[in-house]
Amino acid sequence: FRNVLMDYLMISRLSLFMVSRLSLKITQKNLIVKAQMDPLTGLKNRLTMMPILEKMFDVHELSSHEFTIAMIDIDHFKNINDTYGHQAGDVVLVELANVLRKTLRGGDLIFRYGGEEFLVIFPHIIQKEILPVLEKLRKTIEKHVFVVDENLSISLTVSVGTATFVPSEPSCTPLELIKKSDEKLYEAKETGRNRVMH
Ligand code: GH3
Ligand code: MG
Ligand code: MG
Repeated sequence: FRNVLMDYLMISRLSLFMVSRLSLKITQKNLIVKAQMDPLTGLKNRLTMMPILEKMFDVHELSSHEFTIAMIDIDHFKNINDTYGHQAGDVVLVELANVLRKTLRGGDLIFRYGGEEFLVIFPHIIQKEILPVLEKLRKTIEKHVFVVDENLSISLTVSVGTATFVPSEPSCTPLELIKKSDEKLYEAKETGRNRVMH
């Protein structure tokens, strides 16, 4: 009986050890997932975006296929915060993330790049097809009613700057591609906002 008891104790200890190791692993995994996510919108954040963009460069260089990125920035978002409060601004950001998810295709990769800026990678769209896609998105956002609560609905517009990675053109880095889209976004803002610049 003593031996059986010893065996039982051994097995219990071992399984306890394994359970605690497993829960540690799960906690670590949850922490990693959390670090990759923007807690407000549930989109992946900029930290996660960079290695993905780098991979895209490698893959598209090999396959000689181009791909496009778009930087989307809410127009006069500060006014929304100042007029209706930061919490209303937060609701608008969550809702815009949902509009992006609904309007774009499954293969498009959406990231929250910064405060009120979103970056989308379009892996399968060639340069000449990008403008109609983004125009449709711009119009959808322009028409969308952002419901904050039963007494408050907000309309807004976005400005968009895009840049295309073309494998045959002189080498460009992920950061340079982002810079290009940022410059186009700046042009869109300067020329009146609520527009897409490519
Ligand atoms: P522009 O048309 O030139 O883009 O003007 P803007 O007001 O949208 O841009 P600006 O950069 O002046 O202001 C962005 C504001 O976004 C300022 C900042 O407080 C706000 N913001 C950034 N992150 C968040 C957030 O997570 N929640 C809320 N509510 N506001 C945020
Ligand atoms: Mg901005
Ligand atoms: Mg803005």
